Amino acid sequence: MSHGSGQSKIALAQDLSFVLRNGGRMPTAKHIPMRQCIACRERRPKHELLRIVLTEAGPVLDPTGRKPGRGAYVCPDKPECWVEKKLRRFAGAKAQELSQALQTVLGRVESQAPQVGKPST
Ligand SMILES: [Zn+2]
Repeated sequence: MSHGSGQSKIALAQDLSFVLRNGGRMPTAKHIPMRQCIACRERRPKHELLRIVLTEAGPVLDPTGRKPGRGAYVCPDKPECWVEKKLRRFAGAKAQELSQALQTVLGRVESQAPQVGKPST
C-alpha cells in the first residue's frame, strides 16, 4: 500500500545496469607476475625472488631486476635453493660460483675461504 516506492525501483535498476555493464567481472586483485625458482621450481611472486643474470664474466645477482641478459630467479630465503647442484641446470659450469655468491650475499655463512696461501717460509 505504499506509493512512494517508485524511487527505490529506479535505484535498483541503476544498480543492475552497473553490474551488467561490468560484464559480471569481479574487481580482482592486480595481476602479480609470477616467476619460477630455478632450484626448487616453486612459482612465487616475482618480487619475492632474487634475479640472477648470467653474464660472460659469471653470474651476477640482480636485486633491481634491471640488468640485461639471461635472467633466472631463486628463492632468497631458502638456503636449499643456493646449492650448486640445483643451480647447475641454469648456470652450468658457473653453478659453483653462483652458489658461493648466493651464500655469501644471502646466507652470510661462515666464510668458507680456504686458509691457504698463507705466506710461509
Ligand atoms: Zn627455490
